[in-house]
Amino acid sequence: MPDPARRDPLSTLERDSGLLWHPYAPLDAGAHFSVTGAAGPYVDLCDVAGASHRLVDGMSSWWSVVHGYRHPFMDAALTAQLGSFSHVMFGGLTHGPAVDLAERLVAFTPPGLDHVFLADSGSVSVEVALKLAVQYQRARGRDRRRFLALEGAYHGDTTGAMGVCDPVGGMHTDFAGLLASQLFLPRPPLPEASPAEVDAWVIKAENFVDAHGAEIAGIIVEPLFQGAGGMRPYHPAALQSLRRLATEIDAVLIADEIATGFGRTGSDFACRAAGITPDVMCLGKALTGGYLTLAALMCSETVADVITASSHRALMHGPTFMANPLACAAAIASISLLFAADEGGWEAAIARIAPALESGLAPARGFEHVAEARVTGGIGVVELDRPVDVGLTTRIAAEHGVWLRPFRRHIYTMPPYISSPEVVDTVTAAMVAAAAAHGDGCEFEVAS
Ligand code: PMP
Repeated sequence: MPDPARRDPLSTLERDSGLLWHPYAPLDAGAHFSVTGAAGPYVDLCDVAGASHRLVDGMSSWWSVVHGYRHPFMDAALTAQLGSFSHVMFGGLTHGPAVDLAERLVAFTPPGLDHVFLADSGSVSVEVALKLAVQYQRARGRDRRRFLALEGAYHGDTTGAMGVCDPVGGMHTDFAGLLASQLFLPRPPLPEASPAEVDAWVIKAENFVDAHGAEIAGIIVEPLFQGAGGMRPYHPAALQSLRRLATEIDAVLIADEIATGFGRTGSDFACRAAGITPDVMCLGKALTGGYLTLAALMCSETVADVITASSHRALMHGPTFMANPLACAAAIASISLLFAADEGGWEAAIARIAPALESGLAPARGFEHVAEARVTGGIGVVELDRPVDVGLTTRIAAEHGVWLRPFRRHIYTMPPYISSPEVVDTVTAAMVAAAAAHGDGCEFEVAS
């Protein structure tokens, strides 16, 4: 048998094409690079010509690797757990890493979220949240199965989660008949919207809930910032009104903090910034510092009590890899770093990153074809007035020493929290250069 670790990385790229599917890409699309190593904020890559590149990971591997790669504290935590046990079923058994993690999550999330379900990915935690809301309503003697979500939402790729994603961008038509028909409110107003605009949206939400309240099991939102659906912040009053409306109709308010949680938008949890506590909160991505897949569903006492009083008495879900001990060990270590009171914590990181993003992206505002350049906490976005050429952007960013993965009209970054201002400057320079290349007169073809 050939040793896979000894294969030439170039051949990895070649062997990949036509063999493996990548996210939302044709089978033969191929990858841009193969990864040969990673350390700190950098990924070591090999291109199709066999050339090596060390690039800053401006994506934090889809917003998860917040402490960077091969972080010594994270590595040590995983190694220690490996020396104990890597996996064990969670039905009828428990273990220290799961209990330690759950205690920490209860301590660090907004007060009132006292019960924890550990799921295997963000999408699965959303599935569990949707099932929980339906179970909650049944236990209350109601047959409510629909969900109220927001246009522009993204909650994951499993079937239930897809159903509450944006009805246009979420490919509902492709999967008509498979996805449940859900209810959508227009995108909430931007943070800088006028009071009149905010009031108009709130009135729309109230009228909608008046008309459909009897069907609504739960309301699901990404609090204060919509990520994959458009990298767009919104006004806290919209979230506060949804909290009030959910209480009024006794629907379960589900806050999907999978992307926003752990400091990314500039507060530890976006719900806390808006001064609300949801009934259910989903966490993922940065939860394990991107080391392993794990998500957590946090739930209020009131909702948990209703589930316990239901006919099943249980939350009806139980995956094979529930509460995987290695993933729990990674999450405990990640949370220790995130909430450390030194420069490694999320707060100091965002204080360092946000101003660097702001100054670095400012030049993009001068381009005619840039609709907006905005910074929300540790997220920097340049939104074009046209679709991004992914191939062009990837190439220009790589030439500037950065790995970026734009989508639709957005060239964006969520740099690792360990990034120095100089590293952030490298990222923003690449973003501005990539944006500039999309101007009129710079011919490009729109690639997928
Ligand atoms: N919810 C939100 C807000 C997300 O951004 C994502 C992933 N981008 C998910 C859910 C799904 O998480 P996962 O990819 O881990 O299934």
